[in-house]
Amino acid sequence: MQLPVPVPLGLKKSFGFGDRLGLATPGHLEAVRGTGFAPIFAQQSIREMTRTQRTPADVMRAAQEALASAGHAEPWGADADHLKTPEDVERTAAAGFCFFTIDPSAHVNNGADAMSGPELAAAVAELDKDRVFGERAWRQEYLGRTFDLGTGMGLRFGEEDLYRAVVKYGRATEHAAVMGRAIAAAAGGGGFEIEVSVDETDSPTRPLEHLFFGLELRARGVPNVVSLAPRFIGEFEKGIDYRGDLVAFEAALRQHVAIARYCGPYKISVHSGSDKFAAYPAVGRVCGDLLHVKTAGTSYLEALRVVARVAPAVFGEIAEYCRGRFAVDRQSYHISTTEAEIAGLGPYRGKADEPAWLDERVGRQLLHVTFGSALTLGADARGRRFKDAILELLTENAGLHRELLAGHLGRHLTLLNAG
Ligand SMILES: [Zn+2]
Repeated sequence: MQLPVPVPLGLKKSFGFGDRLGLATPGHLEAVRGTGFAPIFAQQSIREMTRTQRTPADVMRAAQEALASAGHAEPWGADADHLKTPEDVERTAAAGFCFFTIDPSAHVNNGADAMSGPELAAAVAELDKDRVFGERAWRQEYLGRTFDLGTGMGLRFGEEDLYRAVVKYGRATEHAAVMGRAIAAAAGGGGFEIEVSVDETDSPTRPLEHLFFGLELRARGVPNVVSLAPRFIGEFEKGIDYRGDLVAFEAALRQHVAIARYCGPYKISVHSGSDKFAAYPAVGRVCGDLLHVKTAGTSYLEALRVVARVAPAVFGEIAEYCRGRFAVDRQSYHISTTEAEIAGLGPYRGKADEPAWLDERVGRQLLHVTFGSALTLGADARGRRFKDAILELLTENAGLHRELLAGHLGRHLTLLNAG
């Protein structure tokens, strides 16, 4: 069987379908057909691969085999998501990934938001001492200039704005350049494209901070940047709808898109894009073609819905296991569901309990944050791994799995096109 290979998708609007179990591509393919979005079928972060004990090659092969059996001949992408080190780049490039998402969040100084003028000046002096900008006269590149983003939108850096942006993101832009060089080297002359993500930081990315970041990517020569993921205002929690002021969100998004057009052009990437139904029409309307959306957890929850429908007792066991893992597993996630709410969730006894476990916030976030434990450590009373049981049920009920995924992800895409 000839396996299809992923290609860079450039500035086409695109949608990422993360697949943690390796059986979701047929449903994803059905969801994306005819929507005008270019698909990314292999998309997994280093963190997800660690938590599911899958290798980059496993993730790639699952997508390739599904696409080969479906006879898929259109361009598709493969996203090595949230790469933090040059070693992450090498591992994923070796497996054939060609879209690389740089995550420089370890080099973002979240404390900058709360610093006083003198504290910022001292922090900037440190960056100068460390030659973070090399020999560049960086103040002159930014201060006293108006950056005309078109449509009457001009942005100017005051000294304090600039210092705050520099302290918050200066070292992150330097790391992005290091990663960019590692990616170009690992691609070895083959086609590749780059996204930079700062979505996993404490505070929203202000328009001036995005402008600084985008201009630095250009000044530092980071190659083939096709998208940037800011941290948006409001809450993009895992597995549930957008929470926050949609009018303010849309106004800020408009500025981000204007900045992306000015600095790139590159696309705006919406991470934790699963289930943000209330925000999608605005996202589609404001971004137009300069849009990439990433989802992953929502497809895992549809897989569990298959289990809940065809094997309620198995789902019930998984559900109770996850309940026991919540306190530990929730720690690396930004979610609003509390331990008290988890304790108050009734057991799964059958179809009538499906909304509480698979449609509403508490159940969805519980299942979402515990995926790694459920898929690696979790086992039933007889010692059979949950993962093996889930994979067997999904294989036996491939039609239902495909139908649920096509319906649920299709709803994402329809709303993105509804703006
Ligand atoms: Zn992300």
